[in-house]
Amino acid sequence: AIRIRGLMKRFGDRTVLDGIDLDVRDGDVLCIIGPSGSGKSTLLRCVAFLDAYDEGEVNILGRLIGWRETPMGREPAGEAELAAVRAPLGMVFQHFHLWPHLPVLANVTLALRLARGLSKQGAEETGLAMLGRVGLTSHAGHFPDQLSGGQKQRVAIARALAVRPKVMLFDEPTSALDPELVGEVLSVMKALAADGMTMVIVTHEMGFAAHAANRTVFMDRGRIVEAGTPQDLFRAPQSERLRQFLETWR
Ligand code: ATP
Ligand code: MG
Repeated sequence: AIRIRGLMKRFGDRTVLDGIDLDVRDGDVLCIIGPSGSGKSTLLRCVAFLDAYDEGEVNILGRLIGWRETPMGREPAGEAELAAVRAPLGMVFQHFHLWPHLPVLANVTLALRLARGLSKQGAEETGLAMLGRVGLTSHAGHFPDQLSGGQKQRVAIARALAVRPKVMLFDEPTSALDPELVGEVLSVMKALAADGMTMVIVTHEMGFAAHAANRTVFMDRGRIVEAGTPQDLFRAPQSERLRQFLETWR
């Protein structure tokens, strides 16, 4: 679904992604772990081309995102082309950014109506179905400030699902939540995984990574240091850096 080769990203003279190679296959639930500043968020942002990468390639369902190859070298892809290549991606971030003046259902259907041009009725049918998947059908008419943090994040997941993504990218979806609200968001994500959704998840929830992921990647200083099954990484870390990182979570 996603193919990353030789990905490089610099901010000024700082190299933040230093040659990332990674494949995400259909049905993968891939968790990315690693210390703060290792480049996990930047990697997700480059995959969606929210940040422009400098070198290498990111292919989404076989199409290069962000750049167009020409005989003269690379040039930025046009807006419409970028949007088309990005369309199979759904994104959920730490902060949910719901529109406070819109009810929950309208938050979920906004992109369907504006970007996909669906009718009000068609968008609302899809929106209610997606709210059902996150267990919030009965909250369709509520406003965001009437919801808990966990419920808001579930609305953000429903909103991402509404455009029928092929791959969902999550960047620390539970790290802004009070501890007692983390579980409800993780169970929604587990249900998605069980439904066969392809997912890439940056997380500090080691228990979730150990039980829900089929693959785990450990990043440090802009590189993938180890990759394998959760059992490989958690039970038999090969590098000193991963061993030290895991120590801090015990
Ligand atoms: P965390 O676990 O704290 O979220 P992370 O692994 O997601 O960390 P990134 O946010 O990807 O790390 O940041 C990687 C490095 O890139 C950091 O040193 C950060 O300061 C730097 N960085 C990120 N975004 C920018 C930016 N827009 N401009 C300059 N530097 C940036
Ligand atoms: Mg981050």
